[in-house]
Amino acid sequence: MKLHQKNTMIKIKPHQIAFDIDGVVADTMSSFIGIAKKEFGINSIRKEQITSYWLEECLNIPEDIIGAIINRILADPFGTALEPLPGAIETLKLIAQHSPLYFVTARPIREPIEEWLRQKLAGVSPDKIKIEATGQHSLKPQVLKEIGRPYFLEDHLETCHALYEHGLKPIVFDQPWNQGKTPLYRVHGWGELKAMLEL
Ligand SMILES: [Mg+2]
Repeated sequence: MKLHQKNTMIKIKPHQIAFDIDGVVADTMSSFIGIAKKEFGINSIRKEQITSYWLEECLNIPEDIIGAIINRILADPFGTALEPLPGAIETLKLIAQHSPLYFVTARPIREPIEEWLRQKLAGVSPDKIKIEATGQHSLKPQVLKEIGRPYFLEDHLETCHALYEHGLKPIVFDQPWNQGKTPLYRVHGWGELKAMLEL
C-alpha cells in the first residue's frame, strides 16, 4: 500500500462520503457495556479493554452472552440506550444540507437502526437518510461502488483494508480496537472529519 498524504491535504465533498454506523455514528460499545452490566451483571468491562473488533478475543465473557448482548443491540437500539458519538449528529446534519446521507452497515436488519437514525437526526428529511444493511462486511465495497461514494468512515480495520483494495478511500475512525499501523487516513473523532469536508 502506498502512503497517503496527510488528512489535511484532502477535501471531501458531501456527496462523496458514506458512513458505517456502529462504532462510528453510534457508541455501540458503551451500549454493549451497559447491557452487560444491567442484564447480565457483568461490571468489569472497560472500553479500553476492547482491543479487538471480535469481542470474544479480548473479553473474558462467554461467547453466548456476547452473542445475546449483540442481538439485543441489533434489535432494539432504544431499549439498549444506544447514543450517538460526540459530534456525529452535528456533522451529519451539516452534510445533509448539501447531500443525502448514506449509511452502509453490516447489520443484518435495517429497520431498528433506521428508526434510531431518523430520531437522532430529527430535522433531516427521512428521504435524505439512506441505509444499506448488507448483513456482511464483505459486501460493503460493492455497495459503495454502486452508490458512487468512494470515501467511507469505518471503525473495522479489515473492512478498511478491503475497501482500499477495491480502489475506494476508507477513513479509519479511531477506536481502541483498530489500533496498529495502517497507511490509511485516520480521524480521531468527528471534529477531524468535519475539517476534511468541503461544506
Ligand atoms: Mg462499525
